[in-house]
Amino acid sequence: MRLILLGPPGAGKGTQAANIVDKYNIPHISTGDIFRKNIKEGTDLGKKAKEYIDGGQLVPDSLTIALVEDRLKQDDAQDGFLLDGFPRNLDQAEALDQILENMACKLTSVINIAVDPSILVERAVGRRICKNCGATYHVVFNPSKVEGVCDKCSGELYQRSDDNEETVSNRINVYSNETAPLIDYYTEQGVIINVDGQKDIDLVFEDIASALGR
Ligand code: ADP
Ligand code: ADP
Ligand code: ZN
Repeated sequence: MRLILLGPPGAGKGTQAANIVDKYNIPHISTGDIFRKNIKEGTDLGKKAKEYIDGGQLVPDSLTIALVEDRLKQDDAQDGFLLDGFPRNLDQAEALDQILENMACKLTSVINIAVDPSILVERAVGRRICKNCGATYHVVFNPSKVEGVCDKCSGELYQRSDDNEETVSNRINVYSNETAPLIDYYTEQGVIINVDGQKDIDLVFEDIASALGR
């Protein structure tokens, strides 16, 4: 299965990605996670990406597209993948079409998680992530059993530096202007699956799994 997760910041892409890759046994390719890892490790890419991420702007396509192309060429992605957070604009979507054509493969589905913009800031600002295993929680909507501690691995939970109100608002604007047009783009390609991201986490996953149908 070759899948894309589409949706505004805070829609639940990362949360659903964990369930999807587990069920369908495909690698989870999150450009946001790749950038954050590079920032943490102090790589050149991390240094270049940081200012954009902290401002809630998109990292330039010249850095992002090549990174995804390299990742899709790795062995573990040959039988399928889940892209989370890529593509985020039309140029990225067209570049991805070209990459897939060169690899002689096609997208299976684009899962569009729809959430009312009014709840996105609360979703993102309350997000907490495990430093150790990357599991995602929410202080109100999906709390860990012990505050600040991961249920799965007992790792420490942290808040992303870009999950503050101001940056989240910028990211929502960027989404509306640059990413939302991809809904039409993939609808025209006939691959879109629309899901209601305001249901409970488990119910959203049931809708995705039943639409994917395996
Ligand atoms: P994205 O990757 O799209 O930015 P996340 O999966 O990280 O979104 O989810 C954003 C925040 O909202 C997290 O704190 C997560 O626990 C919470 N969340 C995700 N899905 C739901 C849902 N269906 N209902 C309530 N909260 C949710
Ligand atoms: P969210 O889950 O909240 O949507 P991500 O983790 O996907 O956030 O992305 C965090 C930040 O990383 C974005 O605000 C952007 O600066 C950068 N980023 C991630 N993916 C891309 C991409 N495909 N193109 C450009 N920038 C990206
Ligand atoms: Zn953990």
